[in-house]
Amino acid sequence: MADKYQEFTTSAVGKFLVPKLGLPNPPKLRRYRPGEPPLAGPALIGAAAGGRLEKTLTKQIGAAGIDVLTEQAGDDTRYGALVFDATGIKDPEQLRELYAFYQPVIRKVAPSARVVVLGTPPESTGGGERIAQRALEGFTRSVGKELKRGATAQLVYVAEGAEEATESTIRFLLSAKSAFVAGQVIRVGTGGVTTAAAPENWDTPLAGKTALVTGASRGIGAAIAETLARDGAHVVVLDIPAQGADLSQVANKIGGSALQLDITSAEAPAKLAAHLTERHGGVDIVVHNAGITRDKTLGNLTDKAWDSVLSVNLVSQLAVNDKLIADKVLNTGGRIIGVSSMAGIAGNVGQTNYAASKAGVIGMVDDTAPRLADYGATINAVAPGFIETQMTAAVPIMIREFGRRLSALSQGGLPVDVAETIAWYANPASAAVNGNVVRVCGQAFLGA
Ligand code: NAD
Repeated sequence: MADKYQEFTTSAVGKFLVPKLGLPNPPKLRRYRPGEPPLAGPALIGAAAGGRLEKTLTKQIGAAGIDVLTEQAGDDTRYGALVFDATGIKDPEQLRELYAFYQPVIRKVAPSARVVVLGTPPESTGGGERIAQRALEGFTRSVGKELKRGATAQLVYVAEGAEEATESTIRFLLSAKSAFVAGQVIRVGTGGVTTAAAPENWDTPLAGKTALVTGASRGIGAAIAETLARDGAHVVVLDIPAQGADLSQVANKIGGSALQLDITSAEAPAKLAAHLTERHGGVDIVVHNAGITRDKTLGNLTDKAWDSVLSVNLVSQLAVNDKLIADKVLNTGGRIIGVSSMAGIAGNVGQTNYAASKAGVIGMVDDTAPRLADYGATINAVAPGFIETQMTAAVPIMIREFGRRLSALSQGGLPVDVAETIAWYANPASAAVNGNVVRVCGQAFLGA
């Protein structure tokens, strides 16, 4: 569904009226296109005294094809990224170093620039260091809300010893692939695994892998399937039989295979396990994208609306995970990825059933992550905010407009934005990214 208001802001009348009336002015976000540079300018890197990441960061950012500066450039340079290693900050007074790095350059960023702060997980430290590291979150989220023209800010907490395991995360954040990920806190190496091997080819990191995407006949699921196929995976796309025609189209387009199955049926886990084992010798990536809404305020909700939403969005996924893990259908180094929702974090009127199921997906990540770490695998989730799909096109216009505008990027995201985030989790180099829930919401003002 086209964002008519955003189209209006780029018209001659809109360009005149929008600034005069102080209306939101949604920027055109830079999105990934093969062959284009990752950022619209060089990355300026800084570090607090005693930081443990600066050297690795410089190497990783350079390897991603980005020009690296360690000193401020001349006046007219527009930075594509401002990256600060804050791991050296051991007490609140030292936060002054963070301020001193960003303050002089924050107004010199290019469109869709990236601010990335890296710290030490507060819970792994104590005293002044713990307090100062926690403070980074308020700083980063505020910078994200101040930035204009599609620029975003994120915080990455890197566990002690996981310095070399951050490359896939750095590449994702310092690229147009993270266009709609804003104001997020990511943890690397906190689940016990602190190493990760780089893929042979960063353009096709999923070569030789098999991925399963549920609910893939349209919308976000179809975009996930396309993105994982672009990255080299063979994708098994799954949807209910009623969506069979659309599902075949998606499978044909990406050279994948289609599987018609209702994931809530009692025999679904066993059927799925058999299919994946017999045809593909197991599965490397499982994306639980299928989801439904049956919105009504609690007093008006029916048993059927409660049961069906909980069943598709949560309970069936747990049954599938249990079967794939128990029977070792999920290969070593496997990835399970859940699709939660902002409603699962902030709650929403008319969505007690949906929000319970989507908060349950976060619970599923928390509960399963330690088990999978023992297995050399990971589980993470995305929590989309307002994404332009058939689901949100059906939302009443005023609510739709609020959904789009009440965010730091003042627009809805695209299905591909969710898909790119999932592809980052799926990357073999993301082995130390376990137990995360990252919102793909343009830093929506609702919720945490
Ligand atoms: P969509 O309705 O376009 O697609 C969902 C797909 O899941 C459909 O193809 C549907 O047939 C399939 N499905 C439903 N029940 C199934 C079952 N029992 N077995 C197999 N497949 C089944 O929705 P979308 O907007 O693309 O959303 C995809 C996911 O993202 C959902 O989990 C949704 O809750 C979540 N999400 C979407 C948004 C948004 O703004 N669109 C926001 C937050 C979260």
